[in-house]
Amino acid sequence: MILVKLNEANFEYDIYSLIKAFYPRENIIIDVDFKKEALPEEISFRLVIEYSDNLIKLMELNDGVVDLNEGNEYSYVDSIETEYSDRVETKNQLKLLLYKYLSKKTRKTLPWGTLTGIRPTKVPLKMLEERYSGDEIYGFMRDTYQISQTKAALSYGIALAEHELLMNVCEKIGHHKSAKDTSTADLCEDAYSLYIGIPFCPSTCLYCSFTSYPISIYKEMADEYVEALLKEIDFVGANLADKKLTTIYMGGGTPTSLEPHQLEKIFNRIEEVLDTSNVLEFTVEAGRPDSITEEKLLVLRRHGVSRISINPQTMNDKTLKLIGRHHSVADIRSSFELARSLGFDDINMDLILGLPGEDGADIAYTFAEIAKMKPDNLTVHSLALKRSARLNIQWSDYEDMLMENSEECMEMAHKAAKGMGMKPYYLYRQKNMAGNLENVGFATPGKEGLYNILIMEEKQTIMALGAGTSCKYVSEGGATVTRSENVKDVKLYIERIDEMIDRKREKLEEMGWL
Ligand code: SF4
Repeated sequence: MILVKLNEANFEYDIYSLIKAFYPRENIIIDVDFKKEALPEEISFRLVIEYSDNLIKLMELNDGVVDLNEGNEYSYVDSIETEYSDRVETKNQLKLLLYKYLSKKTRKTLPWGTLTGIRPTKVPLKMLEERYSGDEIYGFMRDTYQISQTKAALSYGIALAEHELLMNVCEKIGHHKSAKDTSTADLCEDAYSLYIGIPFCPSTCLYCSFTSYPISIYKEMADEYVEALLKEIDFVGANLADKKLTTIYMGGGTPTSLEPHQLEKIFNRIEEVLDTSNVLEFTVEAGRPDSITEEKLLVLRRHGVSRISINPQTMNDKTLKLIGRHHSVADIRSSFELARSLGFDDINMDLILGLPGEDGADIAYTFAEIAKMKPDNLTVHSLALKRSARLNIQWSDYEDMLMENSEECMEMAHKAAKGMGMKPYYLYRQKNMAGNLENVGFATPGKEGLYNILIMEEKQTIMALGAGTSCKYVSEGGATVTRSENVKDVKLYIERIDEMIDRKREKLEEMGWL
């Protein structure tokens, strides 16, 4: 256990995340309490962070009792001057102070330095829109966040790619730009994207933390679920008719767990009540090969789905079995070939690095096999250990297995994607990722997933429909982002559909769209 005492509640989550990045397996307690107290035996070390006037002081306590009023002995003391009126700057300074201490103590540096948030491209993208030069952005990322040369180059390169794609979206939806206008803040003004969640899968993967229920058990409820979804689609159609629908993304779960007639019903309703004339991209995650049939893919084709995902995660049969996916590598290949033969020319494949029992050779094999199939997009995830996932709950069954991701593995991913003619175009991080690394989306030019950028960079309102989904309402050029959530439980979602719609209505009224 690592104990951190604060003299006031401030930046607790940032402090926690940074310490966790250095000590992923330690329990960390952040405590705003300066009272004298005996410390538990198993404590690894104790820190005190004191905010006062224009100073933040960091101290590591020697063994004994925490009582700041009675002259404790410190084995480490450092401080940093800060201007509290600027909260972002204060947070950056505090994290820098803590990072230097932890780095010295562990003799480690973190590839992403003090950046513990999920969007490492947020700052460079904003700076690009404000017309800072490449050198300035690059330098700022390294000096402010201590990120490695490689990651600074990666986040800057991806921000550049994102910016170009977002500028194209602006043009395509009629926000014409002059040479001087490099801002994409207007994307949220009169346009939105749609997310439809289908919370069913053929089986539950070991690492899954999404809203997903086995379709075999929920089959009877699927028709009612679709009816509830149609109500939400009707609500969007009736209320956002004056807004431009830019992208549609159907995810989950695995949407292709539904029957062809159920998918058809949803697509028909979209076409009936929404204006799809501005839609630039329509993605459906056909993620699991064990959910894909020719009939379903033909339904997708008939309704203008432009992009699908067929997600192997790994090309090793032994791992597929271990992670609870009831399909084989041969099924991945045949589903992919089937989709290609039916005319899908934009297929994404998701992979996970750091799966239980996989070493560098297994990962290299996966990349070699993927390269033979030639997908158009590749999304490479670092395994994230989520609290609700079976992998976490049954941790003792897997803790002895190799579960590492490393810079070398990410490097392998970049080389493999480059070999397939792809470039990185989007990037995000999650909590508790293997190797403290990142998720990167690669694409062949022209096949980038626009929805991914719009949601990740919070550029547009996302109307999210379905159980367990969360709407993001983006306004004031991205300065304000609020959310409304739908209940996760399928039965409750069906029963309380009117309430889910009311939640949306309320938020849309708040932002002045109704
Ligand atoms: S396919 Fe995705 S959503 Fe479905 S169980 Fe596996 S990880 Fe979860």
